[in-house]
Amino acid sequence: MSAIQTRNGIEENVLNCIGSTPLVRVNNIIKAEKLKCDLLVKCEFFNAGGSVKDRIAKRMIEEAEKAGKITPGVTTIIEPTSGNTGVGLALQCAVKGYRCIICLPEKMSLEKIRVLKALGAEIIRTRTSAAFDDPDSHISIAKDLEKSIPNAWIPDQYTNMNNPDAHYYGTGAELIEQTGGKIDVFVAGAGTGGTIAGTAKVLKEKIPGIKVVGVDPYGSILAQPAALNTMDITGYEVEGIGYDFIPDVLNRSYVDEWRKCTDEQAMPMARRLLREEGLLCGGSCGSAFYHALEIAKTMPEGTRVVCILPDSIRNYMTKHLMDEWMWERDFFTPEVPEQNAEWYN
Ligand code: PMP
Repeated sequence: MSAIQTRNGIEENVLNCIGSTPLVRVNNIIKAEKLKCDLLVKCEFFNAGGSVKDRIAKRMIEEAEKAGKITPGVTTIIEPTSGNTGVGLALQCAVKGYRCIICLPEKMSLEKIRVLKALGAEIIRTRTSAAFDDPDSHISIAKDLEKSIPNAWIPDQYTNMNNPDAHYYGTGAELIEQTGGKIDVFVAGAGTGGTIAGTAKVLKEKIPGIKVVGVDPYGSILAQPAALNTMDITGYEVEGIGYDFIPDVLNRSYVDEWRKCTDEQAMPMARRLLREEGLLCGGSCGSAFYHALEIAKTMPEGTRVVCILPDSIRNYMTKHLMDEWMWERDFFTPEVPEQNAEWYN
């Protein structure tokens, strides 16, 4: 059976419009950088809820339903998340009729909160600086709620194997079909790590010799070797990637190389993807693509680099989409290419 679903008829509901995302060549950047290799991006903002996390929300809910663990109208779904898993779950809950509670750190954008509310989710905001095991963290608060609310269930993207499996059977299988198995380097950022671990697992099974590169923000500890993580930065603006613990679903044995990324590298690159390629993508896309491009600059003719773009600019209308926000944080210098200076003013 094909991993790619074509949509040219009537869909029973919007949950069918998750997965089978387009793979797009970044032609203008390839030309501008005089790349010898091919460079493609998998555009996850085409998912119904606007991010790669719609895939895992769908699979975690469907598998729990199949196992008889949850029932619409009875179960309350609770999840600690940086936002996109929340939106994915709230979308499932809105269509299927579950009560939904999302716990998320204060740092996460107002745009995500508004979408969550509009989808009918109840929101609990938690202190961003609370470590994962702090009683005030979004993870601890979700666990407390699960105990106090009858018929509550936490899908738990950090330990639920349906998270990486959504990418093994979805994202990765689609990439193999879309490229005919021709990928030399695969680049993705890591939050829970479900995307990189699940996708890399199937890519490595089917494409011998493929290299998998993980991108982790400075201030996070996911990268290996651990010495990479010792920069003197604790906070960062990019949302959705990086953690202060290693989630169970992040099987780092599938990652051949880790690269660290700064906000100063990521944010202008996210804007560059918009301006030069028309890709309406989010900040973590800039992190992953920054390194995909760095790698592509070193790759010979006939090779291909593929990068995941996890979410949409919709989440960041008052953040990196705004010039003022970028200037205030010095994100427009020194990475901004000279020739583009005028449209940053
Ligand atoms: N980028 C964004 C914007 C995200 O919300 C997430 C999910 N936390 C990721 C990247 C990373 O995905 P994963 O959790 O599968 O590693």
